[in-house]
Amino acid sequence: MTSLSLRELADIDVGRLKGVGDKKRASLGAIGVDHLLDLLTFYPRRWVDRSNEARIADLVPGDEALVLATVRSVTKRTTRNRRTMVTVNVGDGSGRMEVVFFNQPWRERQLRDGLQIALFGKADVYRGGLQMSNPVVDLIGDRTGRIVPIYPQSEKAQINTWEVAGWVEEALRRCRDRGIDDTLPDAIRRRLGLAPRFDAFADIHLPETIKAKEQARRRLAFDELLRVQLVLVLRKRAMEREQRGLQHEVDGDLVHRFYDALPYSLTGAQRRAIDEIETDLAAPHPMHRLLQGDVGSGKTVVAVATMLAAVQGGHQAALMAPTEVLADQHATGVRALLEGVSVPDPGNLFGDRPLRVELLTNRVTGADRKDVLAGLADGMVDIVIGTHALIQDAVDFASLGAVVVDEQHRFGVEQRAALRAKTVGGAVPDMLVMTATPIPRTAAMTVYGDLDVSVLDELPPGRTPIVTKWAEGPLLEAEVWADIRSQVADGRQAYVVCPLIGESEKLEVASAEETYERLAANELAGLRLGLLHGRLSSAEKETTMDAFRAGELDALVATTVIEVGVDVPNATVMAILDADRFGIAQLHQLRGRVGRGAHASTCWLVTQQRDEPGDPIGNPRVEALVATTDGFELAEIDLELRGEGTLMSTSQKGRSDLKLASLRRDRNLVELAREVAFELVDDDPELQRHPGLADELDLLFSESDEQFLAKG
Ligand code: ADP
Ligand code: MG
Repeated sequence: MTSLSLRELADIDVGRLKGVGDKKRASLGAIGVDHLLDLLTFYPRRWVDRSNEARIADLVPGDEALVLATVRSVTKRTTRNRRTMVTVNVGDGSGRMEVVFFNQPWRERQLRDGLQIALFGKADVYRGGLQMSNPVVDLIGDRTGRIVPIYPQSEKAQINTWEVAGWVEEALRRCRDRGIDDTLPDAIRRRLGLAPRFDAFADIHLPETIKAKEQARRRLAFDELLRVQLVLVLRKRAMEREQRGLQHEVDGDLVHRFYDALPYSLTGAQRRAIDEIETDLAAPHPMHRLLQGDVGSGKTVVAVATMLAAVQGGHQAALMAPTEVLADQHATGVRALLEGVSVPDPGNLFGDRPLRVELLTNRVTGADRKDVLAGLADGMVDIVIGTHALIQDAVDFASLGAVVVDEQHRFGVEQRAALRAKTVGGAVPDMLVMTATPIPRTAAMTVYGDLDVSVLDELPPGRTPIVTKWAEGPLLEAEVWADIRSQVADGRQAYVVCPLIGESEKLEVASAEETYERLAANELAGLRLGLLHGRLSSAEKETTMDAFRAGELDALVATTVIEVGVDVPNATVMAILDADRFGIAQLHQLRGRVGRGAHASTCWLVTQQRDEPGDPIGNPRVEALVATTDGFELAEIDLELRGEGTLMSTSQKGRSDLKLASLRRDRNLVELAREVAFELVDDDPELQRHPGLADELDLLFSESDEQFLAKG
């Protein structure tokens, strides 16, 4: 008798379990549990060790805690202000307690004498005894055993944790004889010290000890991560096999002349990234590489070096930016770096012609646009910089050899793919994706798992670090305006970033206008102020930005539109209002707008006064920003503070999503899973010798899941 595969488990309806009648079957369906595989992966949300926790005698008044207890009596009455109040007396071997529920009359029917329940809430002392009011209640029935699993339960679907536990127990009993396929090769399983799979399923639900539960979790979490990594690695290797790329000449004159002409020497990190990129460029398969580097780490030089390698071989290169402002800025920056560089001109036997860089956005129109398009089609434009306008059908390249995508915010999947599709006689251009939002290594492995990763973890020398200060309450806020005035008096410029208001751009704009009026009339009266927000036309934005860049404005009052790409080295002070409404990554991006020149810069994070001064619950995000300017460190803290994130987009959340594994807690497992995925795939590129694993991927990942994973 062979063991049961996950696919077989997914074919057995939960209705076949004892005790699951039509009504319960429908309830299970409502919470997404249709077959045995769903049930076995419907994991407890916590486990209570009744031998050494959860006793009434151990409750500390004022603290939240969990207790397991038995219902002794239930009474219901109506209070004077016409609320219903259900009072339940509960007890365990160690003591007794009163539990009250307001406005939950149905509790009287739910909580019968003798029922075991888990209560989670804050116990207080009331009339000399302990009392919990409106705690979270889980019905656990009459389970015995030391560890009690507590399942997510649904009041609406009328499913209790004890019923789920019973069904799971029966499902496991019925699977026990045949066992469940262990698709992980035994040698690998042993090497990593992972539990066998059937044991893991049994111990995650009905562990004898907390330690057994932990081991089970580790195994099942590893499986989840391994499947994700296998999808990514299979795709990556297939792409490398199937796609023919260009073998660029990376040692050419052009690139060397470019390095020689730079006014500074490359940082070690830039050097390393360029080496990695050059190895990819010279290889026969197309590059798919992610360049991660904090704001100001010098990604532009790396991008230009990449593009020049393509140009050197007679190809073209494109740089795609998310906004017109950024595209403009890149065009200016890249042109400055490439001034005076010439390329061999095949039309002129011994001659050169100047390297040609063009901008292509929706604002380039008429004859200019025609000219750029013609140049791209006949190969006379070497480097083109633009927005998504670049991927429109009308844009033809003579020979696109390299593409750099600057994704301050991630581009759409299709957009990246469309640009890559502009192939040259079947050869796929090399692609470098740049991001200024550092993500922790393990998250990068998953989110950008089909890309190789280079990291710029070193800032160019000579930067004066940005000093970040927290201005809490009106007194310190006054100091912020004084600082801005004094910096402006010294000839510097300032940004004032207006509060983020929900998801509404309209409200945000209104608040920016209001802030602008207020500052102009009061705190910053007499200064030359500009206003920048998302509802202005491109031309209006442009005019304001130009004025700010030219120093004709002292301070720019703006919404988060300045988050990306604005580069004014003379701006040395930023005030972010209601900073606690922003996320860490966003604050970090905003702050990166200052500290771009030789002068020392300050970033003020302005918040309201907390209710009680000295309140120990501080403001962890604001505090993190004050503590460090290292984007990677902040990314780790962010992941830490935000807790679990889901891997799939919410709409894709499904069977393949991580149920147990956490990118935050299980960093080590993510790395192991990635290594094992490479080991398996490199040895057996289509998993033909691992049909069980291949079948599980097929079962658990839809085509759209795979695309979502692979393209980020
Ligand atoms: P990023 O795009 O990563 O935010 P940039 O490429 O815009 O960073 O570079 C930020 C600034 O640092 C630019 O003014 C650039 O001229 C400068 N820079 C880049 N590399 C170096 C280096 N190796 N040494 C000194 N300055 C550098
Ligand atoms: Mg940049």
